[in-house]
Amino acid sequence: MATRHGLRLKKSSKAVNSPASSTTSSSKQFVETSVDGQSSPASSSARSKSHFFYSEAAPVDVERLKENVTVTVRFRPLSPKEIRHGEEVAWYADGETIVRNEHNPSIAYAYDRVFGPTTTTRHVYDVAAQHVVTGAMEGVNGTIFAYGVTSSGKTHTMHGDQRSPGIIPLAVKDAFSIIQETPSREFLLRVSYLEIYNEVVNDLLNPAGQNLRIREDFQGTFVEGVKEEVVLSPAHALSLIAAGEAHRHVGSTNLNLLSSRSHTIFTLTIESSPCGENSEGEAVNLSQLNLIDLAGSESSRAETTGVRRKEGSYINKSLLTLGTVISKLTDGKSSHIPYRDSKLTRLLQSSLSGHGRVSLICTVTPTSSNSEETHNTLKFAHRAKHIEIQASQNK
Ligand code: ADP
Ligand code: MG
Repeated sequence: MATRHGLRLKKSSKAVNSPASSTTSSSKQFVETSVDGQSSPASSSARSKSHFFYSEAAPVDVERLKENVTVTVRFRPLSPKEIRHGEEVAWYADGETIVRNEHNPSIAYAYDRVFGPTTTTRHVYDVAAQHVVTGAMEGVNGTIFAYGVTSSGKTHTMHGDQRSPGIIPLAVKDAFSIIQETPSREFLLRVSYLEIYNEVVNDLLNPAGQNLRIREDFQGTFVEGVKEEVVLSPAHALSLIAAGEAHRHVGSTNLNLLSSRSHTIFTLTIESSPCGENSEGEAVNLSQLNLIDLAGSESSRAETTGVRRKEGSYINKSLLTLGTVISKLTDGKSSHIPYRDSKLTRLLQSSLSGHGRVSLICTVTPTSSNSEETHNTLKFAHRAKHIEIQASQNK
């Protein structure tokens, strides 16, 4: 059979050309409770221009968008080292309640879901990511962020490892499964992998692609000259990420430091069209799925060296802008959304504006040494989505 774009990836009787229905995740309530004096529990390319749907004049469907923004919190367990060092637990998840183990006035925050330290990434994926991936395969833009301080579990959540695959490999695998289960359409998948460091956009799939410009045309924003590779299998897509990670090594002996100081954006561009007879004139779907491992949010700390200070101020600005953009998108009252204030939000403008699904996964550590940072992350997550709190709950 003839193939479009020289590639045919297919196959369920489930037609996917209808727009995805909105996620109807009912927001639950989570309450931070003061448990004064209690001891801690042990558990405790070439760009195809047609991808971009954004238009500044397009009305934002606030109700739909609100439903399409999901904010969750994931606690990691204490590490063996932290246990050895007798680190105290300052925060923990007690079922659906987040508890602070220190004297503090009771403050209520709300999230769509809280994941405790024994929750698997697979479960996090099922709750906080799968609907975004399914939507993207059906033509609805999707963006998943991991937000949190360094060592809170962002990379564990997004990339994972052999034993515990992260959201990126799970999403890629799901995407190809959906193709197999959708015989009525044919798909073309492309990936790009970018890094933003100090407000400079670099292409991790192309060492020559440094300091790329974000541009805008009548269809929206795009990264000029970004390399996009067509992918034919999950293994192929993941090998590109591995190669991209290797590029981050260039000139750096301190990958950990670099990784905590830069945002990485893995984008799957999905194009699909009906196949078979009578498909003439039917819609071609184009969408993007952005999977983002953000820079560590701890950068607000006073830094001593000039380089660190500069990195910190860029990270602060981009994370702050991201929080403001998501918050303004959900509150629906603001006509001006400051996408332009950071490269990250500018680059994601097409995906975030109005029609896409967004999942913000905020990773936190239970340790008392990170207590204030955890609090900051919880506040950021709460601010990102205005979930009504029906009643406060104290222990
Ligand atoms: P970040 O990317 O936020 O800096 P990492 O993902 O590298 O943090 O996590 C720091 C360490 O904690 C890693 O060794 C990681 O394997 C471990 N870790 C993070 N989250 C979890 C989790 N939910 N369960 C088990 N180990 C985790
Ligand atoms: Mg990391």
